Amino acid sequence: MAVARGASIADAAWLSVRMRASRYGAHVSGGERLVPRRYGASVVLELLTRAHHASERAPDAVTVTVDEIESDMIRRVPALPVRTAHVGDASEGRAAARKTLREWGVGNAAIDTALALLTRGANPDGGNMRGACLLDAGGRRVERDPRRGVRVSCVDMEPVDRAWFDGHFRGRFPEGRFRDALILASKSASVAGIVAEICWSDDPGYVAGYVASAQGGYVRFPHLKERGAPIGGRVYFVDSDRFDNERDTAYMESTPVLVTIPRRAALKEA
Ligand code: AMP
Repeated sequence: MAVARGASIADAAWLSVRMRASRYGAHVSGGERLVPRRYGASVVLELLTRAHHASERAPDAVTVTVDEIESDMIRRVPALPVRTAHVGDASEGRAAARKTLREWGVGNAAIDTALALLTRGANPDGGNMRGACLLDAGGRRVERDPRRGVRVSCVDMEPVDRAWFDGHFRGRFPEGRFRDALILASKSASVAGIVAEICWSDDPGYVAGYVASAQGGYVRFPHLKERGAPIGGRVYFVDSDRFDNERDTAYMESTPVLVTIPRRAALKEA
């Protein structure tokens, strides 16, 4: 383990902190952080607080898992550049999202399936999933457990960049949702076999969503679903020739990654 001069070994260790909240076994909310060990206690508290306030559905079970991560295991990936596509309502947002995904090479069949899954709930048992769906070019689901999906985890923004980001966008985006989504999207876009992603929240009061890809960046749509709709989710469009299900799912779920902001200007259009 590499230890910076003047730092103790304890300082060099990082913690992956994961929270999942459920009600009657169904997913309510979750969160993932990757922080220097000294922030561990406050981040556990923050995620517990979020579990109880993030949703109108009060959880009846909250699990927080803390794993120690060696600092030299952590990879860095750049944040995707961001722009906002100004749309007036959800149907305009979805049409614009489709157009952008088409430009990135995603076929209509896969887009139709993704929009249908995110509208009616992608969980085969009904409702929302904890994780994301994987769709191949023909719109077939390829995640190994379609009830659970793929949960991108062990990821955060580099602390100095996170502090800048939160200061820069203070008041513009509520509850860090945009930051958290950008973190997940930037890790996922670093997988060569992921062509693109679409997401909107399952929170009935949060109607924005995005599409993202390594080639096109992160495109925000202020409207991607109707207000009041309690169903949302994430879909990754994969290229089956390049996506190695076992290797890439393991990377998304458990390789420690910090998202950096090499060019702050790349976020100015958000
Ligand atoms: P949120 O943006 O947190 O409201 O999440 C919207 C949907 O995305 C959830 O219902 C999950 O299906 C999915 N999701 C949330 N967090 C993750 C994650 N870390 N990895 C993969 N999918 C996620």
